[in-house]
Amino acid sequence: MHGWNGKLLRVDLAKGKAVAQEYDTTLAKNFLGGRGFAIKILWDELKSGIDAFSPENKLVFAAGPLTGFPLPSSGKLVVAAKSPLTRGYGDGNLGTMATVQLRKAGYDLIVVEGRSPEPAILRIDDDEAELLDGKDYWGLGAFETEKRLKEGHGRTSGVLAIGPAGENLVRFANVVSQEGRAGGRPGMGAVMGSKKLKAVVIKGSKTIPAADADKLKALGKEAYKEVLKKPNYDFWKRQGTMATIEWSQESSVLPTHNFREGVFDEAEAIGGFTMEKLKVSQRGCPQCNMTCGIVIEDENNLESELDYENVAMLGSNTGLGNLRQVAALNRLADDYGIDTISLGNVISFAMEASEKRLIDHEIGWGDFNEAKALAEDVVHRRGTGALLADGTEAAAQKLGGNASNWAMNIKGLEITGYDCHAAPGMALSYGTSPIGAHHKDAWVISWEMRVGREGYGEEKVDKVIEFQRIRGGMFECLTTCRLPWIEVGFELDWYPKFLKAATGVTMTMEDLFTIADRVYALMRAFWVREYKSRWSSTLDGLPARWYDEPITKGPFKGASLDREKYDSMLQLYYQKRGWDSRGIPKTKTLTNLGLRDVTQELSQYVKLTA
Ligand code: SF4
Repeated sequence: MHGWNGKLLRVDLAKGKAVAQEYDTTLAKNFLGGRGFAIKILWDELKSGIDAFSPENKLVFAAGPLTGFPLPSSGKLVVAAKSPLTRGYGDGNLGTMATVQLRKAGYDLIVVEGRSPEPAILRIDDDEAELLDGKDYWGLGAFETEKRLKEGHGRTSGVLAIGPAGENLVRFANVVSQEGRAGGRPGMGAVMGSKKLKAVVIKGSKTIPAADADKLKALGKEAYKEVLKKPNYDFWKRQGTMATIEWSQESSVLPTHNFREGVFDEAEAIGGFTMEKLKVSQRGCPQCNMTCGIVIEDENNLESELDYENVAMLGSNTGLGNLRQVAALNRLADDYGIDTISLGNVISFAMEASEKRLIDHEIGWGDFNEAKALAEDVVHRRGTGALLADGTEAAAQKLGGNASNWAMNIKGLEITGYDCHAAPGMALSYGTSPIGAHHKDAWVISWEMRVGREGYGEEKVDKVIEFQRIRGGMFECLTTCRLPWIEVGFELDWYPKFLKAATGVTMTMEDLFTIADRVYALMRAFWVREYKSRWSSTLDGLPARWYDEPITKGPFKGASLDREKYDSMLQLYYQKRGWDSRGIPKTKTLTNLGLRDVTQELSQYVKLTA
């Protein structure tokens, strides 16, 4: 095999063993890498209905066939498992040297099984893999863990770590690397914590086999230069994703006060131009010349790496209009290993619950000190923090009444930084995202603002599917970053060329989209296998707030979504995907995608439509 190493590392934490295994070439050709590998392994190897925190759950770290080569923004890693937050398929990606080192050590993925009796560190150094005693690291933040591991194992090592949030099984704990690169929103850090795996430290020194190494090198050189030439590049380097604060405010989609509004009175104070005045440096993922992590000094003069999502969710959504204070919450979340997006959501949920006098905890909109104390309580599962540590869906169920109407999640995963009162296309993107509400698969909102935001027409359904194929399929399986394409216009036709030079395999965009559809059908099958007869199209529906509580401010004052029109869009989406009216892939669709075996297993749990 070229491009792919053809090997995975299987780690049994209970037995304290790590074994290299070759995998079948059909896995590579049919599922490509990253998310594709992860869902195939989780589908094949997990039993339906297991507890996400049980030793039976498996944690997959998967790179793709381009990872580790000198190609633009190719230093990403997918981390996946059954999610303890949504109880469905969960994954996320992060940029990290660990993915480059993994590939150089000769592996494409790691599958972690079982549970260690004591805290452990997985060390990989080329062909050597062992479990080390992790007791001295347990309780440390993700930053200190990485620092100490690098001191012990070399500065160029790649490290993946969890913080106390993962150890304490906070259901939206994530995996952190390089003081600010984090991934696995649906609780992948908590799964790692349940396995008592504190960190992974990786070093590799091998050459990743390329089908045409000279061609790949020349293409990479040309591609990096092409990124630099894009007209948007200079402004991107100045602000990264932070420019989106101003855009979202102007477009009335900036989440504010727990998604009640789309405009925030203090938006300027947390926007990209304010950030530019505070910026002290810039960081990025390996192999990337777009370095979008903007670093400022926080309230405590400590460095904090910002992007749009964490500023929108910890800033405007909680009513906090002070960027250095937002940065302090953000740093705390990264170091504790807790997802900033869900953290912003649970804090704003608590603020609203406090305002409605549903909890015995005083916390007002924009109250930094209380928000910080609450974040720490979430990490340590204390007081109101314990209520919030299981996410907004579980918290709303405990509060009862109509709290679920304003618990802003879909399938249990908290919504990311776009208010959809007046953006039905983006709402569909959230509703049909394969991990619960997340923008990474189909960020259609910028396109939607240009074509007319009010419509619920077929073109929006088509755009969601097109973006899911590109972003959620191709990029998540190649594990390359989507931002060069979406943010500066780096053309998609580079990727089949990279793939050909790396692997020797010719794939057209159509071929890549077929893989994307296969991966999507399998992710959906995973959810259905978990939910069984409880699965229905209502799980792809939206929080009642977006239908029933119009926004009260800004140019879209009075706007809200139409429930019937959204449901019609959703049915059209299912038809186009070859799924039935419940959103379950039909037998014919699964068979055409080469997933006949899936129909046999799935039909044990639900009646499939031909
Ligand atoms: S654009 Fe940003 S997120 Fe993407 S690879 Fe580069 S630094 Fe990482």
